[in-house]
Amino acid sequence: MEKSDEQIIQEFRKKRKRQIILAPIALFAVILVLLVNPISIIIGSIIILIAFIYSLKNWRCPVCNRYLGRGVNLKKCPKCEAKFWQE
Ligand SMILES: [Zn+2]
Repeated sequence: MEKSDEQIIQEFRKKRKRQIILAPIALFAVILVLLVNPISIIIGSIIILIAFIYSLKNWRCPVCNRYLGRGVNLKKCPKCEAKFWQE
């Protein structure tokens, strides 16, 4: 079933929100690793790994499923050109 423009935009917004929430969690994990305490290094590394895998799965185009790269302020998909913002 084809997704409507509205559905694509809604889905993109949810994914974008998750990516934005992920950033401070990843930053916190990096700080843990930098604490030079063996336990914090292990916990920090696990969080970074999970955040990385989650981001790879989450940050994809709702239409063609292509990975969307580093930026979070995309106006459209670089591959299939599906619009993520209403004009
Ligand atoms: Zn796409």
